[in-house]
Amino acid sequence: MSKISPLIRIWYRQNFRKLPWRETKNPYLIWLSEIILQQTRVEQGLPYYKKFSTNYPDVHALAAAKEQDVLNDWQGLGYYSRARNLQATANYICKELKGQFPECYKDLIKLKGIGPYTAAAISSFAFDEKKAVVDGNVYRVLSRLFDISTAIDSNEGKKEFQLLADELIDEDEPGIHNQALMELGAMVCKPSNPACEACPLSALCLSFARGNFNERPVKQNKNKVRERFFHYLIFNNGKKMVIEQRQEKDIWEKLYQFPLVETSTLEDPVEYDFRYRSKPIKHLLSHQKINAVFYHFDELPKKIKDNWIIIDLHELENYPLPRLIDKYMEELSLKH
Ligand code: SF4
Repeated sequence: MSKISPLIRIWYRQNFRKLPWRETKNPYLIWLSEIILQQTRVEQGLPYYKKFSTNYPDVHALAAAKEQDVLNDWQGLGYYSRARNLQATANYICKELKGQFPECYKDLIKLKGIGPYTAAAISSFAFDEKKAVVDGNVYRVLSRLFDISTAIDSNEGKKEFQLLADELIDEDEPGIHNQALMELGAMVCKPSNPACEACPLSALCLSFARGNFNERPVKQNKNKVRERFFHYLIFNNGKKMVIEQRQEKDIWEKLYQFPLVETSTLEDPVEYDFRYRSKPIKHLLSHQKINAVFYHFDELPKKIKDNWIIIDLHELENYPLPRLIDKYMEELSLKH
């Protein structure tokens, strides 16, 4: 057990990817990177990190920004509640904590949008507090290394893995230890076809010896995916168009969209005379599969609903849209 941390730290120092958030001890920038990287690949998150750290270089700049600007900068990353929580927390830090970023795990975890993983990451990376991070990569490495069959999404599993990670963490370099374990999971101990021959832990790894690494980690609930059917109405008379704002407590909360009719099947629900209907477009989220169809109309409707907003065509770019609509519009402008 005691060999593990030195081995992965040596490996990390020789192999880590140089990423801007690894070159700072600034807790604000580390927090930004952690929130951006949730549910997001590093290559996709990197330009967003650069944009946010430039446009909002400190917690005061983020707190003072307009919500619409922050959401526009977030556009394309998805899970917009992350951007809203970021700004709400920046506001809280400026107003309630006099702009002082919390410096330890127990204060960090009190903040909105910061759970045990993010609090451990910030406190260990920025302040070298001995707090073990357990993310998807860490679950995978530890479940294979010790050949653990407890489901990682059970309460029992969460406790067991956290205890194990706490036991393994290094006293002197907890930040580097955490980074190393996560990087090993991301670069070597990948979900399929782990590169065991390049792994510094292969001589200690039980799953490697037993050849069962493809069965680790174990999950009890394979994602249950909810299927939804969205019909978007694009009313566009050449000068004006109609949009609406999504409401709370659903995906894409508060973003804008074309008027939407949601149904339980893909059947055509539209009684208007549309000029053109797109083919169904599939859009996958972590727990939802969206089937979307876009209907194009050359006029504005005679009856305007209370929540509809009429805008000039060129104004559309000022409104943050879900990635699904954004992509559709991009493809459309390429076609015409
Ligand atoms: Fe993962 Fe293979 Fe390393 Fe074991 S030896 S930790 S399965 S990469």
